[in-house]
Amino acid sequence: MSEQTSQQAAQPLDGQTGRPMVQMRDIVKKFGTTTVLDGIDLDVHEGEVVTLIGPSGAGKSTLLRCVNGLERISGGTIEVDGEQLSYTEKGLNRLRARIGMVFQSFNLFPHMTVMDNVTVAQREVLGRSSAEARERGLELLARVGLDHKADAYPGNLSGGQQQRVAIARALAMDPAVMLFDEPTSALDPELVGEVLEVMRVLADEGMTMMVVTHEMRFARKAADRVVLLADGGIAEEGPPAQVLDEPTSERGQAFLQQLN
Ligand code: ADP
Ligand code: MG
Repeated sequence: MSEQTSQQAAQPLDGQTGRPMVQMRDIVKKFGTTTVLDGIDLDVHEGEVVTLIGPSGAGKSTLLRCVNGLERISGGTIEVDGEQLSYTEKGLNRLRARIGMVFQSFNLFPHMTVMDNVTVAQREVLGRSSAEARERGLELLARVGLDHKADAYPGNLSGGQQQRVAIARALAMDPAVMLFDEPTSALDPELVGEVLEVMRVLADEGMTMMVVTHEMRFARKAADRVVLLADGGIAEEGPPAQVLDEPTSERGQAFLQQLN
């Protein structure tokens, strides 16, 4: 009886109900003769937040980059929202229109205002009118608390503000999935919280998210599932408390121990 209960509690809450938005089967990624990802099976369900943790060089960034087609997989299959990833120009454009990505370095266009940063792709990729793009842009800037900075240039914003603009810019494409690659690693410590808070609200609102992070508090609070990558494979996977507090693999234990 109690065993039954604890098994049920161990299931990711959202992950079991939503349909798979990202489905990875036996993903292999090689750079030359080096195998960086060695047979990854991972599903991310609609509305699920999966955080990827693990040592430097484990392949976390590479995995995210494979999901949005920035890197081409050497083997296996990836489906996004039921559609198999195709590396034709058309296929990649379709894919990237449905996946938002936020990087460690904010990558805003420095010569454009904040508003232009969040509207340019809406106009050029989605074909929205200027008025439409602007309205959506303002709405998203308000969501990240920066509507008052619409006319500012990125260089005049703090790192935390720039990263929040980068999140708004990605959201402007109405993505089905958001990928975050260490979004707070380049920030001064006092600016980390405001970015994590925006991400936490996004997660609460039901966005499907894959988040590479070293912020274990975020993983614990916002993630439905934590995946620990090591040596190109999944060493641990499960609800945050299970992975972070009771790792069973040697690699998982070693990684988590050095965090404390
Ligand atoms: P993580 O994000 O977990 O720190 P990465 O995915 O960045 O790890 O890198 C995994 C491994 O792949 C590392 O050994 C890295 O040197 C290698 N790697 C990543 N990108 C390339 C590339 N473009 N060419 C060659 N090796 C790469
Ligand atoms: Mg990385």
